[in-house]
Amino acid sequence: MNQVIFISGTPCVGKTTVANELSQRLGANLIRVNELAINKDLVLGIDDKKGYKIIDVDKLNGVLGEIIDKLDSDNLLIVEGHLSHLCLGADKVIILRVHPDILKERLSSRNYSESKIRENLEAEALDVCGAEAYDTYLDDVIEINAGDLTIDEIINQIVDVIFDKKEHAFDEINFMDWLVGI
Ligand code: ADP
Ligand code: MG
Repeated sequence: MNQVIFISGTPCVGKTTVANELSQRLGANLIRVNELAINKDLVLGIDDKKGYKIIDVDKLNGVLGEIIDKLDSDNLLIVEGHLSHLCLGADKVIILRVHPDILKERLSSRNYSESKIRENLEAEALDVCGAEAYDTYLDDVIEINAGDLTIDEIINQIVDVIFDKKEHAFDEINFMDWLVGI
């Protein structure tokens, strides 16, 4: 049976780093949504105010769906990107979570504007990606509190999820208190 794993979360939670190493370790196919969107011409424009690419999620869903439909049996496909969870076709959706205090340092070192940093930190505290994923995927959403973990530790947890070794409860990570402090 083939298996499709989406890895999503707020910018800088470690999606790309984790997905690169995970796909290497498991010999899995890897799709980076940002690259797919550029290659397939799914970028609608640039949001002037916020400075990031606007991607046609409907078309992205279609393109991803075609790739997933064509998977051979026994193929493992990893799809990483902060829009992946808005698409269909995953068997499991991993949401990487990072406490806003840790995330702030990572976002700051990426030269994001103050307003974009704040927007992303609030999105993380409110678990926007997790809630969106839950709308579609319910119990197939697995959140990992990745802020204090090494890449290897995160990968081990995902491997456990892929091979169904671990029970996970949605919503056990809660960074809401951080919002009260700002
Ligand atoms: P994303 O793809 O989610 O935007 P990246 O994989 O590009 O995130 O990681 C963002 C930054 O955070 C990179 O500099 C990366 O090295 C660092 N990083 C990611 N995961 C960890 C981790 N578990 N521990 C320490 N640094 C990390
Ligand atoms: Mg990335």
